[in-house]
Amino acid sequence: MRRALVAGNWKMNGRVAQNDELVTTVLAGLEQQALTERVDVMVFPPSIYITQVEAAVRESDLSVGAQNLCEFGDGAYTGELSAGMLADVGCSAVLIGHSERRAMFGDREQRVAAKVKAALSAGLTPVLCLGESLEQRDAGETLAVVSGQFRSAVAGLELSEIVQLVLAYEPVWAIGTGRTATPEQAQEVHAHLRVLLAEQGQNVADVVRVLYGGSVNADNAAALFAQQDIDGGLIGGASLKAKDFLAICHAA
Ligand code: 13P
Repeated sequence: MRRALVAGNWKMNGRVAQNDELVTTVLAGLEQQALTERVDVMVFPPSIYITQVEAAVRESDLSVGAQNLCEFGDGAYTGELSAGMLADVGCSAVLIGHSERRAMFGDREQRVAAKVKAALSAGLTPVLCLGESLEQRDAGETLAVVSGQFRSAVAGLELSEIVQLVLAYEPVWAIGTGRTATPEQAQEVHAHLRVLLAEQGQNVADVVRVLYGGSVNADNAAALFAQQDIDGGLIGGASLKAKDFLAICHAA
């Protein structure tokens, strides 16, 4: 049985004071409702605030991750952060291949695969994001697109590495648009991802969690999470509001 996971991707939002308040309120709510007894909860702040958030959550069950990493090891890569650095400051996971990075910052298939490798080599859990654009969905290409993204990201990996991944299906047209995939639309893709995982090995399909992301909120989370192959969510906007994020954790 896979444990539910709810992850908050803060994207490029936050300030020291705001982060303090958000994390303090989330921690209090998680404890009050004993949520982490049944749900894994992670937050992904902007990297400059990782140490702040890590210090605040160190004694708790809330874990912290990064939104991106460099595919190379330490060295002359101005402005970048290595997997080793992220692990060093207490990250346990890292988002890789988010559609915003694929679309705006050149994270194409080969780089995504290299980032997955780099994360694994430092003991970080890669949260591999994949999903189709509206054009691709309308053209009936959804399953082909996510298949390509998945296969290229895992091509060079051992089975023992693939089982460490978390997948996040995030249809681009549902991100930040208020337009969520219906539970049935999401489940169709999640079931397909489960088949792709099973092609690697049945135990891979059994253990790897597949999250849904894209306009998840306190009202629609329960119906999405009730689907057989949806193991939790990757939450953008709603993760910036403690009350909403807690309600989503509760729904998982
Ligand atoms: P929203 O929840 O704001 O649509 O963002 C989803 C997302 O991109 C999480 O990574």
